[in-house]
Amino acid sequence: MKSPRLIIMGGGIGGLATALAASAAGCEVQVLEKAERFAELGAGLQLAPNASRVLQSLGILDDVHKHACFPPRLVCMDAITGKQLTYVEAGAKFTERYGYPYFVVHRADLLDAEVAACRRRSGIALASSKEVVSIADTGSSVRVDCADGSHYEADALIGADGLWSTARKLITDQLPACSEYVAYRGTTSPERIPQREGLDDMTIWIGPELHLVQYPLRAGHVYNQVAVFRSPRYRAGMGAGDDWGTAEEFVAAFSKTCNYVRSCVPLLDHYRRWPMYFAEPLSGWTRGRVTLLGDAAHPMLQYLAQGACQALEDAVCLGRELQAHGDDFATVFSKYEAARRPRTARVQRSALQFGEMKHDGGPLGARFRRYLEERSLEDCSELDWLYAEHADLG
Ligand SMILES: Cc1cc2nc3c(=O)[nH]c(=O)nc-3n(C[C@H](O)[C@H](O)[C@H](O)COP(=O)(O)OP(=O)(O)OC[C@H]3O[C@@H](n4cnc5c(N)ncnc54)[C@H](O)[C@@H]3O)c2cc1C
Repeated sequence: MKSPRLIIMGGGIGGLATALAASAAGCEVQVLEKAERFAELGAGLQLAPNASRVLQSLGILDDVHKHACFPPRLVCMDAITGKQLTYVEAGAKFTERYGYPYFVVHRADLLDAEVAACRRRSGIALASSKEVVSIADTGSSVRVDCADGSHYEADALIGADGLWSTARKLITDQLPACSEYVAYRGTTSPERIPQREGLDDMTIWIGPELHLVQYPLRAGHVYNQVAVFRSPRYRAGMGAGDDWGTAEEFVAAFSKTCNYVRSCVPLLDHYRRWPMYFAEPLSGWTRGRVTLLGDAAHPMLQYLAQGACQALEDAVCLGRELQAHGDDFATVFSKYEAARRPRTARVQRSALQFGEMKHDGGPLGARFRRYLEERSLEDCSELDWLYAEHADLG
């Protein structure tokens, strides 16, 4: 029997994981990536146990763990008072509960492991500098045109082309909405970070309309920071390129934080910013022989550190359906979507709510802080729905 042929549009974390899962299910895969090379922008990534479970099933967990750090605690601090609000022990008991540890890794290390694994598989072809500009579903195949004039044809296409997905336009005219928040992120040498207890932890400092995330990477040889704040200059309708969320606003936003946070944020580069977008869950993300995956399907704010984790889960779920139903793409895609939509919608909505609570400067924020301070340090069961093994991944 002929192997089903797939085009995966986008060679990011989700697209490459899908290539591995689909190839393991017997597909011939062509990955088309718009960038000149397979590379990740930004620095650190938190990967919760649900992501490790996927990486294990893709056979790359050990390669990724080689470069990872395993924070002993996930700590939440008040960015204004400098007081600890709560923490989750992420040690042996946590790992035993979820089957896998919580870890942090440089994005490039994760992507390199995925690329290397793809190159080891004869059924996966990787092509960079291939920006897909049009997609035509003929009913019996899918044909794409790239910006360089080349064309590709396959039995079906997976749009793993991220937040501003071209494939998504075939399915919906809903555009991601601007959160009015912007992130500045980067790494620095650990020696430059002001000393305090718990630098090995994943620490989030929260305050009204801002937060700062900190953790070490690469066996502690680099230190990762992500600072996020709401731009007072943002006005409805402004796009990613407009003059809002500027370096001046960044400095002003963090001027009200405690001494420690104030001493850390100047170590972040001020020249590149990431405006943050989200979307309401779609009622469906498949049309004919085209389906979506990762940020293209369910763009979310990164407040639960789950965007990449969910893209990885999508990949394994799709692989499982390809394994079961081969080139019956109508069944594969509808089962994949039915399995993944409720969970990703919950993560999208929960991330938004979590952001509203942690960034609120009024009664909601005060209640949330009280909840954090009073929660039992022994009990992390509120994370079970996200981190524990669940049915939709089989
Ligand atoms: C500040 C910040 C911090 C985050 N932290 C975390 C975290 O700690 N943990 C976590 O799980 N998630 C985190 N996320 C979310 C995570 O980065 C994304 O959810 C994840 O990268 C999505 O992967 P993807 O493969 O779906 O899309 P992308 O990573 O966006 O990959 C899409 C790929 O498609 C390519 N492409 C685009 N258009 C085309 C085209 N027309 N033709 C061909 N190729 C195309 C792009 O070049 C890109 O390589 C964070 C996000 C931000 C902004």
